[in-house]
Amino acid sequence: MSDYRMNTNCIHAGYRPGNGEPRNIPIVQSTTFRYATSEAMGALFDLEASGYFYTRLQNPTNDAVAAKICTLEGGSAAMLTSSGQAASFYSVFNICSCGDHVVSSSTIYGGTYNLFAVTMKRMGIEFTFVDPDCTAEELSAAFRPNTRAVFGETIANPALAVLDIEKFAKAAHDHGVPLIIDNTFATPINCRPFEWGADIVIHSTTKYMDGHANAVGGAIVDSGRFDWTKYPDKFPGLCTPDESYHGVTYTERFGLEGAYITKATVQLMRDFGAIPSPQNCYYLNIGLETLHLRVARHCENAMKVAKYLQSHEKVAWVKYAGLPGDKYYELGRKYLPNGSCGVVSFGVKGGRKAAERFMAGLELASIATHVADAKTCVLHPASATHRQMNDAELAAAGVAPDLVRFSVGIEDAADIIADIEKALADV
Ligand SMILES: *Cc1c(COP(=O)(O)O)cnc(C)c1O
Repeated sequence: MSDYRMNTNCIHAGYRPGNGEPRNIPIVQSTTFRYATSEAMGALFDLEASGYFYTRLQNPTNDAVAAKICTLEGGSAAMLTSSGQAASFYSVFNICSCGDHVVSSSTIYGGTYNLFAVTMKRMGIEFTFVDPDCTAEELSAAFRPNTRAVFGETIANPALAVLDIEKFAKAAHDHGVPLIIDNTFATPINCRPFEWGADIVIHSTTKYMDGHANAVGGAIVDSGRFDWTKYPDKFPGLCTPDESYHGVTYTERFGLEGAYITKATVQLMRDFGAIPSPQNCYYLNIGLETLHLRVARHCENAMKVAKYLQSHEKVAWVKYAGLPGDKYYELGRKYLPNGSCGVVSFGVKGGRKAAERFMAGLELASIATHVADAKTCVLHPASATHRQMNDAELAAAGVAPDLVRFSVGIEDAADIIADIEKALADV
């Protein structure tokens, strides 16, 4: 399957029906699987044979969809999780324990920031947040002897900063640790981080991959290229026997291609259990079948909206990596030559009040705590997610009071722009 191109893989990768089998990925809505003998089941528990026994660990529907995402990213193994948050957590916790440290870009999704800075800190894992635009020297200075990973987002939500993936990969590898990239906003259609040196990719599939606001979900993909065995002291969980799993050493039994995802499945999924339902994976697959078409249209529409906003007298500023002159235009040209994403952020002249007035005037665009959906949606953080903050606190959080996060959908661009035009006229 991997010989096909991206557009074909969006439709076919991961599932190939045999004679007389369902053309669509079947929804295997079963928690358990039957075996004829205890010996046959025992071999599965010992990881000596592969097969299904309990859906918390593996399910055929989920595996087929994970295999598709694995192919799209060009990875060696992948797994699905019940949310993007679970994917972020597993991706780091799979190689970090109490007492370890992680370097992360500061421009990451707010939920990820909270997970890292508050919740994982309570587990004894410390994070240093660095400005993604820092120099190689500043980045290097953030590492400690106990650093175990580097984390960043291809296109940051909501800052829309484009990450210099090669700079981050080099720093990570110079210090003997992997680079984990959240590729949610770019999707593999616009950027494949493994081609730029990333080692692990995660997704909130809730966004463009599902694309229709049907199902919350996440994915973790391993490139299979990071050599854990070169640093056995840093990654004992992968390089020494797991007493909680019959003394298996993941790198020995499953090789570099399979060690990381197998450990995350049989250990973290076994113990934390954040599995997606087969039904939700089925929805996700329907979304993936049109990912290549939708992402292209999202980008085309967003570019038109960004240009329109830029020329409007009531708009104070526009952020979109596709716009010449944008702070991230050059990085965008390098890493996202076919387009960045459908999310544009901008400021309305007149600050918080003007932005609220603009929001109230929209009809087609719905106000929603969501992005990256077929339907245009919009959020004014200062009156929603960040409403408890005054203007000074907003500035410290990097959210301007006038900031509007506009997630351009795949409706007709002329209708989206007409909606904006009417709402701006009222301001
Ligand atoms: C939404 C989002 C997440 C969290 O994903 P959920 O599916 O909502 O748990 C993580 N990273 C990015 C970039 C996101 O946009």
